[in-house]
This record gives sequence, C-alpha cells and structure tokens, in this order.
Amino acid sequence: LSTAAASASSHALADRDRIFTNLYGRHEPSLDAAQKRGDWYRTADLIAKGPEWIIQEVKASGLRGRGGAGFSTGMKWSFMPKNYDRPHYLVVNGDEGEPGTSKDREIMRHEPHKLLEGALLAGVAVRAQAAYIYIRGEYRNYRQSLERAIAEAYAAGYLGPDACGTGIQFDIYTQPGAGAYVCGEETALLESLEGKQARRRLAVWCCVRPAAWHWAEGRPRLKPPYPANTGLYGCPTTINNVETIASVPAILRRGPQWYSSLGRPNNSGTKLFSISGHVNRPCTVEEAMSIPLRKIIATDEAAPCRPTHSELIEKHAGGVRGGWDNLLAVIPGGSSVPLIPKDVAGEVLMDYDSLQEAGTYFGTGAVIVMDRSTDLVEAIRRLSWFYKHESCGQCTPCREGSGWLWDILTRIQTGEADIKEIDMAISISKIIEGHTICALGDAAAWPVQGLIRHFRPLVEERIRERRRMRSMNNLPEIP
Ligand code: SF4
Repeated sequence: LSTAAASASSHALADRDRIFTNLYGRHEPSLDAAQKRGDWYRTADLIAKGPEWIIQEVKASGLRGRGGAGFSTGMKWSFMPKNYDRPHYLVVNGDEGEPGTSKDREIMRHEPHKLLEGALLAGVAVRAQAAYIYIRGEYRNYRQSLERAIAEAYAAGYLGPDACGTGIQFDIYTQPGAGAYVCGEETALLESLEGKQARRRLAVWCCVRPAAWHWAEGRPRLKPPYPANTGLYGCPTTINNVETIASVPAILRRGPQWYSSLGRPNNSGTKLFSISGHVNRPCTVEEAMSIPLRKIIATDEAAPCRPTHSELIEKHAGGVRGGWDNLLAVIPGGSSVPLIPKDVAGEVLMDYDSLQEAGTYFGTGAVIVMDRSTDLVEAIRRLSWFYKHESCGQCTPCREGSGWLWDILTRIQTGEADIKEIDMAISISKIIEGHTICALGDAAAWPVQGLIRHFRPLVEERIRERRRMRSMNNLPEIP
C-alpha cells in the first residue's frame, strides 16, 4: 500500500461529516425530528437553482452509485433527455437482496426523510414527475416507516402538486418486491414495477397433480435500449440506489468540495458499511470511503507498512472473533464479489480502486468476515446454490453454468469429484463471466473464482479427504 493511501486512510470520519446519524436507535424517523437534523431545510432554494446546477454539483462531488456498480451518479443523470415530450421517472432501488448487505433498510427505517428529500432533488435533476421506491418484499416494517414519512411529507406540502412551494408536481410511490433477488437488477426491477413477472411459483403438472414446483423470476432486459431513453413504461428513467439518493441533500447543502474531501480521489464521500459474519458486533456503520479493513501505519517511504489493528472491523464491529490472527478470509463487497484471504485483507482500503487492485470489487461495501472455523468450500457451495436458484434462466451460461458450479462444489463435498474438476469449475466460470444479459452471471462466477484463486490447495485437499471418507463410508451429512 502506498504511503499516500495510508495517510489518506488515517483520518477517521468525524461526527460532523456523517450524512446518516450513525447512531441508529437514538433518532426518531418522524418529520419533526428529521427537520431538527436539517432535513427539508430550504429545499425550495436548492430546487430553484435548476436541474443543471444539481447535476453539476453531484458530478463535482464524485458521488458514485452505492448499489454496487459504482457508476458516476451525476453522469448517469446527465444521460436523461432534456425535453419533456414524454413523462420522466426516477426509480429508487431499495430491493437490497444481496447477502450480507443491510444498509438501505437502515435509511428507510431511521432516515426516511433524507431519502424522500433526495428523491425530490434527484427528480428535479432528471426532470421526473414521479419517483417509485421499489422495496424488498421482506422489508415490511421498513416500508411502513417510509410510508409514514411519505404521508408526513405530503401533509407538510413537501411533496404533491406544489412540492415545497415551487409549483413543481412531484409524487412518490412505494412498491414492494416479491422476493426475487434478480429484481435488484435495474431492468428486471422495471419489469416487476410494470406488473410483469416478479416472482411466481409455477407448477409443473404431471397428469392431474403438480409433479414439481419452481420459481419463475423477474427477467432483466437486454441493453440497449438503456433506461435513460426507454425505461419505465417506455419512458426515460433513472434508477438509483437508496443510499445514493439519500446522500444527495447533504451534498447540495454542504457543497461538492466537502464531499470529495472525504476518502480519496475517485473514491470520495461517506459510505454505509454492513459488517457481518465472524465479528464480535455485527453492525451497519457510516465511515469515510477508503477506510482500511485493517489499519496501516507507514513508518517511512522505504519501510514496509506495518499493520497494527483492524480499523473498520476493530473500531466498529469489535474485531474478528478470536482476534485478527483467527481470520481466514473476507468477502469485502457483498456475496457477489471474490473473497480475499487474510494477508490481502490486511492491506486493502475499502474503496473501488484498492479492491480492484486486489482482484475483487467494492460492490455494496458489505463486509462478510470468515474466521478459521469456516468451511470455505461449503460456504461458497451454498452461495453457488443461491445464484443457481435466483437465476432467471434467460441466458444459457448463467442458467446452466450456475448449476454446474454448484454441482461441482457439491461433488467435492460428497467425495465424488476429481482434482481436474477444479480447472473445469474455473473454465465454466470464465464462460459465464461477461457473457450474460445481467450481472447475476458474474456474481455466480466470481465467488468460485475467488475460492480457487486463493485457496486451491485447500480445495485439492478437500477433494482427497472426501474421496477417502467416501471410500470408508464415513461422509458427514451435506445439507
Ligand atoms: Fe437471467 Fe442470469 Fe441472464 Fe441475468 S445473467 S438475465 S439472471 S439468466
């Protein structure tokens, strides 16, 4: 790690720089309490500066989409047509089905007014007349919190035919999902919003009764056309993640320089990190981008960096269970990205560039910690089952390949696999990667690639061990 990166990361996020309270449970989500925290303060003045000003400020802040892809938010907004010949829509993605990720629900539950104000400002920027907030079906309680806030905002005149007294019509609707992970993909989400297939249980009939059941998932669209031109109901649409939208009011009030001063260039701002797995206190916490997983102290230019203690994990999650030495691996960005082993985790910063250099991705910023008690092959096998189960089946590489990956990992666990199947798994994952309509295919491939890249000897040993156990009829039960 460079000294520059080390020093950039040495600044912990000050309380005054937090966008979200970071003290969840101590703050009321009500309108009164939100206004005391600065929400809806002179929103009309921000709107009066116009769409172009809002887009420029957000571009200058360096805000990148917090849903996983990390695309520049201001740039995305600038792709929307500037005329009003068709209705424009803003869609806020609160589907949050990524295993390990639990950040958007905290915003909907505790800071709903930041999300609503952000939706209004983003809606003005993209010239939308309405926003749809698509919420994960299981988040019933958080949806209620959000709907209470929407009712309060309408009653206060912040939303509706004369939003904030500006003469602009702006409405916000909520829509629950139906439990399909793939509906977190933006175009599958649009399909679901339009009332098309979201998730249905279908029966495969044999004579007079169901012989089998399977789930029919939402279906992503081929791109192009892109949603900025042909989105919801065939109209121009911008789709952003909940955290992205909820960060916008603070950026416009405090200025893009403030936001871009947090983190490091190209990786600026604050971020909600969900930390789960083998830590002492799993939590969701707001920190500056580029915080190290483990604190790095560079003694001087020439000397190697010396880790002292885990920064993000130690400071907020009470450390790895049994201490840092007990760490085996970390999945740093939600279950869809490749894992990294302990020695790599000790050197990365939690941002887009650093994690990419380390051969993985920032994703949703959800950190899943696995200590030495973890059966990594079994953990990745279960993830493989998840992606196989959630694949919508449109693309052959994803539909068939995700099943094959799960099958190989299951064969390893049941003692039926041969060593050469490791290379076969890599080869299948390469065929899936980049050859599908949506990113779910990549998400199915990457965890397996990460496992084999970093833990190949462990996988080989597992194959030999399970074959021995099988020959002795002594296999553990495989769920
Ligand atoms: Fe469906 Fe998988 Fe293709 Fe995505 S990659 S469209 S989930 S089959």
